[in-house]
This record gives sequence, structure tokens and C-alpha cells, in this order.
Amino acid sequence: MRLTSIELSGFKSFAKKTELEFGTAITAVVGPNGSGKSNIAESFRFVLGEQSMKSMRGKRGEDLIWNGSASSPRAGKAGVKLVFDNADRALSLDFDEVSLERVVHRDGVNDYLLNGSIVRLRDIAELLSQANIGSSGHHIISQGEADRVLSAGSRERREMLEDALGLTAYLYKREEAQRKLEKTGENMREVEALRRELAPHLKFLSSQVKKIEESEKLRDELVERYVEYLTREHHYITHTREALMRERAGPEQELADVEHSIKVSHTALEKKPHDVHTQELIDVEKEGQRLSTRRREIERELGRVEGRLLAEVHAPGASVPLGDAKDFGQRVLSLAQGGSLADLVALAKEFLQKLALLAPKGSGDDLAARKRELEHELEQLSKGETRASETIAKLRRSIESSKDESRAAERKLFEAMAQRSGLQAALSSTRAREEVLNREEAAFKSAVAEAGALCGPKALAYKEFRVSGEEVRDAQEDRRKKIERLKIKLEDGGLGEATDVLREHKETVERDAFLARELNDLAGSIEKLNHLIGELTETLEKKFTGGVEKINKEFDAFFKLMFGGGSASLSIVKERRLKRSVPEEGGESDEDEIEEEEGVEISVTIPHKRVKGLHMLSGGERALTSIALIFAMSQVNPPPFLILDETDAALDEANSRRYGDMIESLAKKSQLILITHNRETMSRAGVLYGVTMGNDGVSKLLSVKFEEALAVAK
Ligand code: ATP
Repeated sequence: MRLTSIELSGFKSFAKKTELEFGTAITAVVGPNGSGKSNIAESFRFVLGEQSMKSMRGKRGEDLIWNGSASSPRAGKAGVKLVFDNADRALSLDFDEVSLERVVHRDGVNDYLLNGSIVRLRDIAELLSQANIGSSGHHIISQGEADRVLSAGSRERREMLEDALGLTAYLYKREEAQRKLEKTGENMREVEALRRELAPHLKFLSSQVKKIEESEKLRDELVERYVEYLTREHHYITHTREALMRERAGPEQELADVEHSIKVSHTALEKKPHDVHTQELIDVEKEGQRLSTRRREIERELGRVEGRLLAEVHAPGASVPLGDAKDFGQRVLSLAQGGSLADLVALAKEFLQKLALLAPKGSGDDLAARKRELEHELEQLSKGETRASETIAKLRRSIESSKDESRAAERKLFEAMAQRSGLQAALSSTRAREEVLNREEAAFKSAVAEAGALCGPKALAYKEFRVSGEEVRDAQEDRRKKIERLKIKLEDGGLGEATDVLREHKETVERDAFLARELNDLAGSIEKLNHLIGELTETLEKKFTGGVEKINKEFDAFFKLMFGGGSASLSIVKERRLKRSVPEEGGESDEDEIEEEEGVEISVTIPHKRVKGLHMLSGGERALTSIALIFAMSQVNPPPFLILDETDAALDEANSRRYGDMIESLAKKSQLILITHNRETMSRAGVLYGVTMGNDGVSKLLSVKFEEALAVAK
């Protein structure tokens, strides 16, 4: 890789676009003081991404922009473009020519361009580090800066050496790994904190889930018990209902029949046919009495008529033989003791007929007629009486039989009523049992509803099961009690929204597992990073030690060359220094810690002098020593280019020649751009640029020949 050119526009004193081409190994820039030569060295720093304003002698970006003069207005931006020949692909870009450009605007904004495309500063830094153009700028030695390598502390010196040895890329990687490690550690602590935060909640949820699982078990048991209980209950209710209906059907029919027969009996009894006969009997008896009374009247009249008849026949002396009268009297007496009225009548008649036979003829015809009339009527009455007695007897018989019938009907009614109350009792016992069954059925229905609500449809699968065998109700009651106990247990569990808890538990477990994985990953990353850091540190150590050894050799050689003898060497030292620890959060300790660091010490011996320590060197000796070291560094790990701004200022003629020799040897490996007032140095350059500045404050560049250069430099 070679530098092709650099172009400045509006950068510091270079108001106008100015281009320097680097066609040779050594390019010298000459010019009077203050003409703008150092600005060219700084334009290199600028375009390579320098961030320190101080190292470009400015305070802000604006200080780098042409500030204007009477003849030329100030610029809005400063730009520097550096062009490399990349035919060897030292820069890992597939271009033969690579241009880097940086522009700073007055508002301080910077643009970085790679082959005309905007890129990040970081991209530029990475690209350049591949070509050993590190950020410490060891390849650009500003005016008066050569001494820095001597005056720096051993730690800073070490950094310069690391940069010169091209270890920045490793350092950069290691720093990045360390940053990542820190960040990973932070992440890990955050994740651990999150996990710690999560832990009590997770514990709580887990205990809830355990309870839920126990509840689920209880619920399963409850479902089982419900199914059995409801199955049996359903079976019991259905069968008992059927049995009761069967049990009721017979008595109900019987009761209906009995009720009917009672009704019939009632109607029958209400009619009372003997009452009619009784009235008839009374009437007939009255008629009989009337007939009897009439007969007695007739008989009395007949007696009287017969008496008169007798009187007429026998009167006054007519008599009835005593024997007849005595006989008549005795018969009447005997009849009066036990005979009937009819016998009495017949006796009287017979007696009277005997009397009539005795009666005289003719004179008693009227009486006889009357007597016949009476006798006829008497006969009629007798007949009537006989009929009446017959009717009475008949009626009495009929009444008797009717009364018998009623009594039978009553008996039947009583029997029916007894049967009815028996049936009613039986039925009401059935009904009572039905009532109980109804209550049981209602309880069953509410149990079904409750089972459904508590356990879902699983608990209602009872219809699918069949019950084998009948059993005592007590067993079912035991089951019901067990169900009640289970329900209470479940209620005591008191878990409301189980699904919510389960979901939250699942999410929390997942989150915790995620965090655990994350921790694991982070721990893995930390291990890898530690490993990488270890490896990088080891590589750095090795390369550094090896590099320092090589530099040491070159340093000693250059030193000997410059001083015509003596010796110089670098040594790696371990420095113990106090490190003020940052107090930990919440901690009170801010104790000082001792930190061990590696640094690099320089020791020199100058011929014929007893020099102990760099501080004893003269200004020129210091300059020679630092040049020897810078050159040694550049020799071991040659940068693509080296810019030396008046590094040769303090050299006498003899040393200037030696310096010139060293430059030529360096130029074999690195392109050199030398800002110088030194004639010897100028003589070694292939191309010479003269920088001048007129009254307008604008730096101008011109290509000059050696003789011209000598003139320009003054
Ligand atoms: P010497 O030989 O004395 O070291 P030099 O040639 O290196 O001098 P520089 O230091 O490069 O000179 O240039 C300094 C000049 O640049 C000064 O005159 C300064 O005014 C001018 N300069 C610096 N910044 C700007 C700017 N932003 N605008 C205009 N001029 C500037």
C-alpha cells in the first residue's frame, strides 16, 4: 500500500484546494515559519480520524476550517482527502485505489467517506488498523513530539510501543471483549435481580398450583362420587316412583269402586220403600178398625133386632130353654178366653137363628127384613174385615222384608265405608311416601344442578351408568355425606380463578425458565469472553515481549549509530501503583488498592559519559535518543508511511547526516513525509514541496527543486 496523494480544501490555512502527490519514497515539505507546513501533518491526522482537537492545535472542529482573510472569505467546511494505492490489497477493500475523506462543518459535524460513500468513523478506524495505521499516531510525529517517547510515563510508553507493534487491533478487540464482559456481567446481574424478584411470586404461584392440583384431585373424586350417587339416586327415584304408582293404582281403582258402591248404597237407603207400606198399613188398619166399629154397631143393632124379634114371638111369655141359654153363655165365655171375633159372631148368629125358629110368624116381618139387611151388611163387613186383616198381614210382611233389605244395605254401606277408610289410609301412606319421594327428587335435581356447576358435565354422566342391584338407603345417605364433606374441603381450598392462576403460573415458570436460559447463555458468554480475553492477553504478551525484544535490538543499533557507541535498551517493568477503587454501591470502603501494571523503562549509556537516567541527557542527546527509538519502532513494524515534523531540528551537521542515512534506510519500508528546515534531510528527498504564505494568510504549495527548496525554506 502506498500513499498516492493528499488534498486539502478549506483546511486551516489551506483556503484553496491544494494537492500533494507522493510519487517517491521520501517527500520533503519545506517553507518558512508559520507558512502552514505543520497544518499538512495535521491534515493527515485529521483525515485518519483523529479525535483529539488538541493534537491538531484546535479547540473545536471550527478551528480546523479556513477562517477567512481580507482577500478570501472564510470557508463553510474543511475537507481532506487521502488517496492510497491499494494494488497490494493491504486495505481489505477490493479496489486498486482507496480514498478516505473527512469533512468537518462549522456546526462541528464530521462526515467520513470511503471511496466517496459515507461511512462511520469506526469503519475507517477498523480499515486502517489492518494496515498498521493505529490511532495513537505513532507514524505521525508532530513538531517537538519526538521527545514524548522519552518523557512519557512507562505506561504511556508501553501504549506507544503496543501501537507501533501493531497490537492495537488486539487491544481494541480485548477492550471490546472487556466492554462486552462488563455489559454481560451487568446483564447477568439484572437477570439475576429479575429472577430474584420473580422467585417469591413463583413460589406463591407454585403453592397455589399445588393447591389447585389437590383441588383437582378432590374434584375428580367428587365427580366420581357424584356420578355414583346421582346414578343410584336417579335409579332409586325412577324405580320408587314406578313402584309407588303401581302400589297406588290398585287401591285407587278399588277406592273408586267402593266410592261408587257407597253412593249406590246411599241412594238405595235414601229411598226407604217400607215407609210407603207403613202408611198404607196405617190406612188399612184404620179401615179395619172402622169396619170393626161398624160391625160392632151392626151386631148391636142386630142383637136389638133379634131381641125384638124374639120378644114378638115369645112375648110376653116366650122363653128360651135354659139349657140353650146356659150353653150359649158358656160358649161365649170360652170364646172370650181365646176365640176370635168372627167365632163370636158365628156363635151369636147360630144362637139367634135358633131364636128365630122359635119366633112367631107374620108379625115380625119388618124386623126380619131389617135383620136380613143387617145380617147382609154384617156379612159384608166381615168380609171387609177379613180382607183388611189379610192386607194388614201382607203389608206387615212387606214392611218386614223391606226393613230387612235396608239393614242389609246398611251393612254393606258400613262395610264399604270401612273398606274406603282402609283404602284411604293405604293411599295416604303411599302419598306420604310420594311426598318424601318428591322431596328426594327435588333434592336430587338440586344436587344435579350443583354437581354441574361444581364439576361440569363430567359429573352429569350419571345417566350413562347402570346400577346393579338394589340397596339400602343408608348407603346412599353415606355417599351424600361424603360428597358434602368433599364440597366443604373444596370450598376450604378457596381457589377462585384457577385458570388465571394456572396461566399466570405457566407464564411465570416460562419467564423464569427464559431468565434461567438467559443466565446460562450469559454465563456461557462470560466464559467465552474470559477465554477470548485470556487468549488476547496471552497473544498481546507474547507479541509485545517479542516486539520489544526486536525493537530493543534496533534501538541499540540506531543508538550506537547516532552516538558512535554506547548502548540503549528497553525493559519491561512491573509497576505497582495505587488504584483508587470506585466504592461499591452501598459499600463504605474506598480503600486504595495496589495495582500491578506493566510499563517500559529506557536505559542508555552514552560513550565516555556516566549517564544515569534520561533526565541527565542534553537536549540534543534526548533528540538523538528519541529518534533512535522512533526509528527502531518503525523498523520493526514498518508503518506504510511516516510523517516527521521537524524531528531533525536539534541535530548538528554530523548527526544530520546520520539522520539522513537512517531515513534512507527507513524509506525502504515506509513512505516518508518530512517537514524540515534541514538541508541534509532535504537532500535525501525525491520530491520537495515548498509552502509559502502571502499577506492573505493563505498557504500555497509549489513543487520545488533542491536549490529552490533551500531558498524557500528560509
Ligand atoms: P513553523 O515552521 O514555524 O513550524 P509552519 O509552517 O509549520 O511553521 P503552521 O504551524 O503549519 O506553520 O501554520 C500556522 C499558520 O496557519 C498560522 O499562520 C495560522 O494563522 C494559520 N492557521 C491555522 N489555523 C487556521 C485557520 N483555521 N484559518 C486560517 N489560518 C489558519
